[in-house]
Amino acid sequence: MSRVFKRTKILATIGPAVSSPEQIRDLIMAGVNGCRLNFSHGDNETRDKHIAWIRKAAEEKGRSVTIVQDLQGPKIRLGIIKDNYLEVKKGDILTLDYALKEHAGDLILPLQYNLAEKVRVGEPIYIFDGKVRTHVVEIPSETAIKLEVENDGVVMSNKGLNLPETDFGGDILPPKDLADIEWGATRDFDYLAVSFVQTADDIRKVREVLKKYNSPLKVIAKIETRKAISTDENLEEIVEEVDGIMVARGDMAVEAGAEVVPIVQRKLVTLCRKYAKLCIVATQTMASMVDNPEPTRAEVSDVANAVIQGADVVMLSDETAMGKYPLETVKAMKKVILYTQNNSTILPLEQDPSSNDQDYDAIAAAAVKLAEGLDADLIMCQTTTGATARVVAAQRPNLPIITVTPDARVANQLALRYANSAFVRPESPEAGLKLVEELKESGYLQLREGNDKLKVVVVSGEGQGATNTIKLRYV
Ligand code: ATP
Ligand code: MG
Ligand code: MG
Repeated sequence: MSRVFKRTKILATIGPAVSSPEQIRDLIMAGVNGCRLNFSHGDNETRDKHIAWIRKAAEEKGRSVTIVQDLQGPKIRLGIIKDNYLEVKKGDILTLDYALKEHAGDLILPLQYNLAEKVRVGEPIYIFDGKVRTHVVEIPSETAIKLEVENDGVVMSNKGLNLPETDFGGDILPPKDLADIEWGATRDFDYLAVSFVQTADDIRKVREVLKKYNSPLKVIAKIETRKAISTDENLEEIVEEVDGIMVARGDMAVEAGAEVVPIVQRKLVTLCRKYAKLCIVATQTMASMVDNPEPTRAEVSDVANAVIQGADVVMLSDETAMGKYPLETVKAMKKVILYTQNNSTILPLEQDPSSNDQDYDAIAAAAVKLAEGLDADLIMCQTTTGATARVVAAQRPNLPIITVTPDARVANQLALRYANSAFVRPESPEAGLKLVEELKESGYLQLREGNDKLKVVVVSGEGQGATNTIKLRYV
C-alpha cells in the first residue's frame, strides 16, 4: 500500500490546553488515537463535554477513538497550608494530622487522609513529588503522624505524598474512586485506568466493582508503586490479570528511583507483548514541549525507543493537558513514530506471544507470517469480541491491521492497539472485504504503484465462530 499508517498509537491527556471542540478535533485529526481524562483534576460537567466532543470528532474523521477514565487512586494529599507556602528545614519534625481543621502556620499540617492507621515508624514519606523527603518517627495519636524532614524544601497546599514502603493492605480504591467508577459506568468510556496498583488482587477487586455496575470497561493497571515492581513474578501476575498496562513513569520514579524506570519499562513492554495485553508508555515523553515548540533529542530518542521495544501506545500528559504547544507535540510525536517504524524492526521476543488461547495464537502467527511473506497490503480481522485483532496485533506485524466488528465498544478499545484501525459494520461473512472495497473507494486505502488490486490476508471465524480461517484475497 502506498499510504503509511503509524503503528504505535498516541494517547493524549485532555486538560485546559485543549478544552474546546475545535482543539480536540485538531488533536484527533493530527493523529491522536485515544484521549485520557484524569479524575485527579477537573469536574464531571467538563468531562461530559469532553466525551461528547471526542466522539463527535471521531465520527467526523470516520475512525474509532479510545476514551480512558483515569482514576486518582489513593493519592494522599496535604490540606490547605497557610499562605500556600511553608519552608521546612532538614531535621524539622512535622506533624501531619487528619483531625486538624486549619493550619496555623507552624509545623503541624492538615492531611486529607488518616495515615496514622496505615504507616509504621521508619517508613519513608515523600512530599510534593519527592521534593521533600521525610520518614516516620512517631505515631502520637489515632489521627496524627510525626515525620523527620531529611532535606530543606518547601511544601504547598494540596501537594501529594508518596509512601513507597507503606502497605495499604489491598485498600487501593478510596471512596472518590468508587464514586468515579459508578459515574463512569453510566458514561461512554472504553477503559478504566487504576492508579497505584500493587498486586493482581487489586485488579480482581476493581473487576468486581465494575461488575456491580454492569460496566463493560476494560482495565488498565498503572504501574508506579514499589510494591508492584518488587518482583518479576508480581509484575507478571498483574499483566496476566489485567487488560492493559500503563508504565506510569512519573510516580514510579518518585517511589522507586528514576534509574529503575527504563528497566521496568522494558520488562513491562515484553510481558504485555507476550500476553497480548495493551502497553502504554507514559509520562514526560515530550515534556519540554510544554514550553517549547520542538522536542529535545533525548525526548525523540525516548519515543523512538518505545516504538522499537514494541509498545502499543506512547502517552502525552502535561504536553497536551496544559502545554503551550499541544498540536505541535502530537505532530512531532507522530513524525518520530513514523520515521522509527519505517527505519527499524521491533525487538524480537524470546518467547512467542501466548494469550489464553493457543489456537488463536497459532492462527495469528500464521496470518502475519503469510501476510509479510506475500508482501500483502494489509491484514483484515473480522471479529466480534476483538480477540482476533488483539492476538494479531501481539505479533507486531509490519503492515496495517484493519478490523471490522459490529460492536462500537470493541472498535473503540482496539483504536489503541498496535497497527490496528477498527471499523464498526454489521456482522456478515463478507463484512471484511466489503469494508476494504469501501475504504479503497474513499481513498483511505491506496494501491501501490504498478498494482491494480490490494492484496489482503483475511483472518476470521467461520462455521464454529472462533478464529479459524485465513484467506488471501485481491480487492
Ligand atoms: P497522574 O499522576 O495521574 O499522571 P498528574 O497530576 O500528573 O496525575 P496528568 O494527567 O499527568 O496529571 O496531567 C498533567 C497536569 O496537567 C496535571 O498535573 C494538571 O496540572 C494538568 N491537568 C490534567 N488534566 C487536567 C484537567 N482536567 N483540568 C485541569 N488541569 C489538568
Ligand atoms: Mg500518577
Ligand atoms: Mg502525570
